Amino acid sequence: MKCFAKLAAAVWMLLCLCACKAPEEPVHDRQVFAMDTVMVFKAYGGEYETALEEAEQEMQRLDDLLSRTKEDSEVGRLNSAAGEHVQVGDEIQELLRSAAIYTESTNGAFDITIAPVVAAWGFTTDSYQVPEPAELESLLQTVGMEHVHLDADSTWLDVGTQIDLGGIAKGYASDRVAEIYHENGVVQGTAALGGNVMALGTKRDGTPWRVGVRDPRNSGDANAYAAILNLTDSFAVTSGGYERYFEENGKTYHHILNPATGYPADSGLLSVTVVADCSERSHGNGALCDALSTALFVMGEEQAVEFWRSNGYPFELLLVTEDGRVVVTKGLSEQVEQMEGSGYIYETVS
Ligand code: AMP
Ligand code: MG
Repeated sequence: MKCFAKLAAAVWMLLCLCACKAPEEPVHDRQVFAMDTVMVFKAYGGEYETALEEAEQEMQRLDDLLSRTKEDSEVGRLNSAAGEHVQVGDEIQELLRSAAIYTESTNGAFDITIAPVVAAWGFTTDSYQVPEPAELESLLQTVGMEHVHLDADSTWLDVGTQIDLGGIAKGYASDRVAEIYHENGVVQGTAALGGNVMALGTKRDGTPWRVGVRDPRNSGDANAYAAILNLTDSFAVTSGGYERYFEENGKTYHHILNPATGYPADSGLLSVTVVADCSERSHGNGALCDALSTALFVMGEEQAVEFWRSNGYPFELLLVTEDGRVVVTKGLSEQVEQMEGSGYIYETVS
């Protein structure tokens, strides 16, 4: 099911983004498997070949650095050190610091220390199970960014605490791709890292890139969309329960967990898409979109919209709700194409 979802996502991205290529264009794209995801990159202008090569190498480097399942990655070394100080590079320290900021600003809805709970549900290994409530209760004692310690020259986790960057790593990776494109003078292009999309500049004909938001009620159909976003210079990151889940005794359990309970978030949302600027003047918006899409999925519609209204972060939102609505924030509404026949009711909030 997981593999199917990844394949479907890859095919979907290819369909959605490749459909836009002018026939006379030489091929300017690259497909990479990294971070457990099929990634597709397209780049036009400047040193596009160098950009694609560097982007591919960068994805492999980040996989080696951030993978939870590679024992010698920096994340793997931190997780297995059980209370010991570990020498890690500045990059991971900085990423952990920004993760801590997102934990604080989302009141704990985004929390990378949810790792042991993710593992207890089997989402790390794909051998799924429903943990006993007592096990969850005990694991939740190890959850919280106060268990992550960052010193100038070393980093350590309290005994029992583990980290899982699955909710932010691909967004961070898409920030790196944006930087690589900018450095190489690439002015138009896309990067699709699973549900994390970067759409730089416009399509070749000057019109916006068209990025499909999957229809979570038809997640088996890679061509079923809840909406299409017409985007220029934007990251668009989607979190949804349909991306990874299992069923047991007629109940569905998905991979986005509420750190307050240890159970899959049950907030009335089917997916959350966060959109923000990816132009050269933006910095870190890929990671921002990724962390927030996970957190706002946990929070639910009311809190997510309130967060959008009151928080200073520069982003827009598209929410797909369980009761069949597509809720879009005002700044994005003109870029949303409604899908006739999808059965959704479209609403704009301001
Ligand atoms: P995403 O697809 O970006 O929403 O990330 C989901 C992944 O992040 C899951 O597969 C877990 O590895 C991890 N995760 C699950 N729940 C949370 C959470 N509340 N905060 C941070 N990471 C999470
Ligand atoms: Mg995320």
